[in-house]
Amino acid sequence: MELDSARTEAWLRAAAAAVTAQEAELTALDTAIGDGDHGSNLRRGFTAVLAGLDARGAESAEEAEGTDRSPGALLAAAGRTLISTVGGASGPLYGSALRAAGRALPGATVGPGELAAALAEALGAVQALGGARPGDKTMVDAWAPAAAAFAETAGQGLAAASGAAAAAAEQGARATVPLVARKGRASYLGPRSAGHLDPGAASTALLFTALAEACREP
Ligand code: ADP
Ligand code: MG
Repeated sequence: MELDSARTEAWLRAAAAAVTAQEAELTALDTAIGDGDHGSNLRRGFTAVLAGLDARGAESAEEAEGTDRSPGALLAAAGRTLISTVGGASGPLYGSALRAAGRALPGATVGPGELAAALAEALGAVQALGGARPGDKTMVDAWAPAAAAFAETAGQGLAAASGAAAAAAEQGARATVPLVARKGRASYLGPRSAGHLDPGAASTALLFTALAEACREP
């Protein structure tokens, strides 16, 4: 199985559905150690991503001819949309991640090895922009194990690697609970940030679960 345009679009739509369904939970997490806007930030951003996908789909045949619908182009466009529509820290971080992944993806279909490389680029973009390392209680704590698990299992195919990445992201997110935040708003709380799940790590787990859903074997 390869990642094609249809699966990439399914991934983005599943991510949008998940952040919308979990908006209240993400906001509650951010209320505990941030400013309570993570759910609404991501819902707004992914609603705009959906609108972009719908607009692409609605283009007439002649217009569509000039439109690049490759996985890389779809992810890069989604990344640009998140950067321009989400005010919080997470918009530029997720946006840069998807844009970097999109730019790293060649061609109309993408194999697991290529997607592994693109996910590594995405993690690199998050870290270049935010300066967080694993253990700082940020989305990096979910992105890093997810990208590593995907790379380790890429040889088993897209479905297996996506499933492994989703499980690793989920585990990485849960592991943020005891950590003291060293980056982002939660770091202002110092030791009081311990005992709470990081909202961005939780939403990163949703993103990888959405990828696994889109790439599940039929
Ligand atoms: P804001 O913090 O501006 O209100 P959000 O609430 O949307 O933005 O996102 C908060 C999440 O962003 C945090 O839970 C964390 O995972 C992530 N985050 C914040 N700063 C950084 C950073 N420097 N590096 C990586 N992730 C970060
Ligand atoms: Mg916030």
